[in-house]
Amino acid sequence: MKFQAVRGFKDWLPEDFFKYHHLMEIARNYLIRANFKEVKIPLLEKTELFMRTIGEVTDIVQKETYTFQDRNQDFLTLRPEATAGICRMILEHGLHVKPKPLKFFFIGPMFRHERPQKGRLREFYQIDVEFLGNLTPYYEVELLQIALEILKKPSNREDLFTLEINSLGCRECRPAFRDYLQVSLESERESLCDTCKDRLYRNPLRVLDCKQEGCKEVVKRLKPISDFWCGSCRGHFNILTGLLRALDRDFVFNPFLVRGLDYYVRTIFEIKGKGLGAQDTVCAGGRYDYLLKDLGGPDLPATGFAIGLERWALSLWGEECPEFLRKKLRPDLLFIPLGEEAKKEGLKVVSELRNQGLRVESLFEDKGLKALLREADKLGAKQVLILGEEELKEGVILIKDMQEGTQQRIKMDKLIGRLKKEQRVEDLSC
Ligand code: ATP
Ligand code: MG
Repeated sequence: MKFQAVRGFKDWLPEDFFKYHHLMEIARNYLIRANFKEVKIPLLEKTELFMRTIGEVTDIVQKETYTFQDRNQDFLTLRPEATAGICRMILEHGLHVKPKPLKFFFIGPMFRHERPQKGRLREFYQIDVEFLGNLTPYYEVELLQIALEILKKPSNREDLFTLEINSLGCRECRPAFRDYLQVSLESERESLCDTCKDRLYRNPLRVLDCKQEGCKEVVKRLKPISDFWCGSCRGHFNILTGLLRALDRDFVFNPFLVRGLDYYVRTIFEIKGKGLGAQDTVCAGGRYDYLLKDLGGPDLPATGFAIGLERWALSLWGEECPEFLRKKLRPDLLFIPLGEEAKKEGLKVVSELRNQGLRVESLFEDKGLKALLREADKLGAKQVLILGEEELKEGVILIKDMQEGTQQRIKMDKLIGRLKKEQRVEDLSC
């Protein structure tokens, strides 16, 4: 019987690892510079936590979670996102009484039972960033800037991404929009897709997000949510967009933008990648001022965003691994000891080279030099170090440059200094 990975769950082959690791490191380094603290939350939480936070009537909780009962009959859910877990963590450890703002980030896999397609997986990674504190528009804009800067960093191209923003109003003004939506959509119920016919009662805002043509047509005829904003939501949004303009940050005001999770209020945003097709949102986020309070905690405004790691990679490089990362698959240095004594000594040599920060592959094989050089060539080694019986006696080692075909004998005690000069040690951190 041949086993295959579960649908929507992907292996990371070495070249995948290089590209995802590269992106995670870029994000991590940037967030550390903005003084966000990295945390880890569990893969599983009590199902109840997601029902309370994401919302019982959302697509995620109703259709997309991996939920099961464990051996104690407790209902558990694989985390579909990180915000709920981080809020639980904050309250459980009393972090909300610490000086504000609270700034955390988490990088890890999320699980949603969705239909797999390009850019949509059942296990996918998110870089999740959360900010809790006295949330003025300055902080919100700062966070937007952080998201945009991280996304563009690997390519240094701003034009690959578009920021779309909207305000979902607050608990004062949103109910009126929801009522309006329900009434207007009910009158056009027949034009809606089956999912939206159902959403109409459960979560009418989600109809605005439907990708079906019929639903899109209906949505075009609706009044935008901005017609329903209260004075304070309107004022807040104007300050925020004013700041973005003053900073020359391009953005699109999309009054039909909604998010899949119940807990968002006021500012929400998506950053879309070019050329990604239907699943083009690389990063999404917004404010969730009431979430901590709903979980029994204090009144603490909050905002955050999550970057989808795989979609970010797709937006930069398509399905490929770029050459500057691919080349890490090839060993810079390949060590070939010939004979038993050289092999024994070789174990010391490779260990010392690695301790000095050099990336070294070894071939401890019982084959002749010719065959081993052929293998070195196949592995794409740039330089080969050969230690034979004779070299061992003389305290030297042979360095062979595989591209130029040249070779040189060098004293063992000079080897490390020489290699460190030639190899770019700082490149080897991954
Ligand atoms: P979408 O509208 O694409 O379903 P969402 O509203 O479910 O997105 P969020 O929960 O806000 O998305 O997730 C933030 C980011 O995580 C998305 O912008 C995307 O990059 C990524 N993401 C979400 N779901 C998936 C998935 N099934 N596969 C891959 N990436 C995903
Ligand atoms: Mg989704």
